[in-house]
Amino acid sequence: STREGFSAIPNVKWQDVGGLDPLKQAFDRYIVRRIKYPEEYKEFGVDLEAGFLLFGPPGCGKTLIAKAVANAAGANFIHIKGPELLTKYVGDSEQAVRTIFRRAKTCAPCILFFDEVDALTKQRGTEGGWVVEKVLNQLLIELDGADDRRNVFVIGATNRIEVIDRALLRPGRFGILHYVRLPSPEERCRILEASRRSKPIDSDVDLEAIGRMQACENFSGADLAALMNEAAMIALQEQLDTAGNSPNAPRTIKTRHFELALAKISP
Ligand code: ATP
Repeated sequence: STREGFSAIPNVKWQDVGGLDPLKQAFDRYIVRRIKYPEEYKEFGVDLEAGFLLFGPPGCGKTLIAKAVANAAGANFIHIKGPELLTKYVGDSEQAVRTIFRRAKTCAPCILFFDEVDALTKQRGTEGGWVVEKVLNQLLIELDGADDRRNVFVIGATNRIEVIDRALLRPGRFGILHYVRLPSPEERCRILEASRRSKPIDSDVDLEAIGRMQACENFSGADLAALMNEAAMIALQEQLDTAGNSPNAPRTIKTRHFELALAKISP
């Protein structure tokens, strides 16, 4: 996993991201293949901007998919949170923005992920508004300098698209907007399936049926992950409670564990 502000290649794979197929395809074309096949992109004269802004409700995979992009491209991943740009480097926020982009260049190919971009919204007349303004202006300058940061790709994320400064959305900046919505019943199944790889789920468990249940209506990906973890926790405790009595009991997560977990988790 990645620590705030530090770069590394994340260990999230495409298969760990359930659903979001159109977005995966867009990222593959605009970023992943571009990093992997630079000669070919040059040969075909492809010159597309690739600054993405993902928006939508929390917990639906924005951060996860950005990490998967970096993994698929073999690129470093730098995770920056909008509010920290304003508070962490008090006094020299502009310099902080410059430093972030410089660091991204030195570890290219690199995905620079700006979370909570909405923190950089001008609140006119409020104290601290000028800091936002300075950071925002510096960010715009850096985003416009795309020519000299080849192989640094910027992805932003927000839950509040309506307050994003319009200047950030121009082509060449965060010009490609993508709505990451709550998963459909079908996507809920894909998200649950994605965790089969990391958890001992009994082969009898019908994840399709669980994903389509009314009880999972309005669940985000994060809620589904919580459901999965709760079911695993219940199964594990049961296993540990009874291990002495029935040492040969199968060590798996079963349908009834999901039923118990569903009673506890709500969106
Ligand atoms: P926020 O707006 O709160 O930052 P986010 O959209 O960035 O939310 P993530 O951090 O990507 O949400 O998701 C949180 C967790 O929920 C992930 O680590 C993962 O466990 C689970 N999750 C969310 N969406 C998906 C998905 N599409 N496939 C698989 N797991 C998912």
